[in-house]
Amino acid sequence: MPIEKIIKKNYNLTSLTTFKIGGRAEFFVAVKNRKELIEAINWAKNKKLPLLFLAGGSNVLIIKKKIKGLVIKISGEDYTVNENIISAWAGIGLAKLAEVTYGLGLIGLEWAAGIPGSLGGAVRGNAGAYGSDISGQVAEAEAYDQAKGELVKLNNQACGFSYRHSIFKENRNLLIVSVNLKLTPGEATEIKNLAKVNITNRARTNPKEPSAGCIFKNLEYKKILKENRELALDLEKKGLFRGGKIGAAYLIDQLGLKGRTRGEAKISDQHANFIINTGRASVRDVLSLINLVKKKVKNKYKINLEEEVEYFGD
Ligand SMILES: Cc1cc2nc3c(=O)[nH]c(=O)nc-3n(C[C@H](O)[C@H](O)[C@H](O)COP(=O)(O)OP(=O)(O)OC[C@H]3O[C@@H](n4cnc5c(N)ncnc54)[C@H](O)[C@@H]3O)c2cc1C
Repeated sequence: MPIEKIIKKNYNLTSLTTFKIGGRAEFFVAVKNRKELIEAINWAKNKKLPLLFLAGGSNVLIIKKKIKGLVIKISGEDYTVNENIISAWAGIGLAKLAEVTYGLGLIGLEWAAGIPGSLGGAVRGNAGAYGSDISGQVAEAEAYDQAKGELVKLNNQACGFSYRHSIFKENRNLLIVSVNLKLTPGEATEIKNLAKVNITNRARTNPKEPSAGCIFKNLEYKKILKENRELALDLEKKGLFRGGKIGAAYLIDQLGLKGRTRGEAKISDQHANFIINTGRASVRDVLSLINLVKKKVKNKYKINLEEEVEYFGD
């Protein structure tokens, strides 16, 4: 079917986010593969409309009531395997892809078990857990460069990965289309068991209510040292750093902020770095809690928390 036939106008994005908080896209289309994506991109290009990708919607807070341009929802299943290299379409679910790799006896994505969202979203935010992140597996990413109007290839170094960061966050013109992951051959049962442990941990620590995962980035030792040397040394003495980081949840919890509400948004009782939507929370409710936490942490600890959640429609 021609792409213009499936493009919708004034489309409500609420149900496409795990937070269940949304705005409306001026134009919207859902694509499941590369061919449909290229058609959608060309459609927007002809109309000189900006493009925005929404994939799993698991790391976004939609902050605009009306989002200009074409929002492309990417999902789908396409991938190919060549020995220990997996080439996958950016819309594939990260956890789904991780499952495929255990079956193949390939090590590298066990940490991703149970993380919602897509491969492309994970690469953009350098998603990770349990001391690993996707930057360790990305061999190459293929992206559509909106500024040049062409597909470009970036090797791992060119992706500019650092903690929950990549070139794709800096240059919003780059939309990830496919990714080559390099994994390591291993023993299938061992990999599956590791993933099972991670899934069990996740079920214990992650709230079930709608959320966007951790709102704030965890804190690297060097950041705390720079902003509050005394605190860094104290936390170090208490042995609270894991892999050079401490959870932002620790500081939020110390401030007694768990359970705090604004409208129908709440700082989770289970995990202090999660804001949950207990019903019909508005973006304003969530932003108000985010600001409260940032202010309290700054006042008490002199630390500037940084959002991990992405403001969509900005
Ligand atoms: C319960 C829960 C647990 C979570 N646990 C973790 C965790 O342990 N570790 C972790 O790192 N994250 C975690 N997250 C956050 C989230 O799942 C990840 O960040 C995920 O990788 C986001 O992918 P997504 O497809 O949902 O991205 P989206 O939310 O759809 O998009 C996020 C941003 O990336 C952009 N984007 C999406 N796809 C592309 C693309 N192909 N090219 C360019 N830009 C793109 C979007 O425009 C948006 O700005 C969790 C979230 C939830 C709800």
